[in-house]
Amino acid sequence: MRDLAAGGYHDRACPCCDGAAYRVPRRFIDVLLGVFGHTHRYRCATMGCNWEGNLRVYPVVSLPR
Ligand SMILES: [Zn+2]
Repeated sequence: MRDLAAGGYHDRACPCCDGAAYRVPRRFIDVLLGVFGHTHRYRCATMGCNWEGNLRVYPVVSLPR
C-alpha cells in the first residue's frame, strides 16, 4: 500500500485489484456529479479487471477561477 500523500497525482490504486489506475476524461454525468465533491474518473490499467469509477481526489492545488 502506497502513501497517498506521496506524489503521483496521476496514478491511483484500483480499489478492485489494487493495480494501477489512470485518469480518464469525465463524462457529462460525471461533471454533474462532480458538484458534490472533488472526484476524477479513473480506469484500471490491469488486464481482466476493467474497473472504472470515480475516485475522490485531494485538493492539491486550488486554481483560482
Ligand atoms: Zn483493477
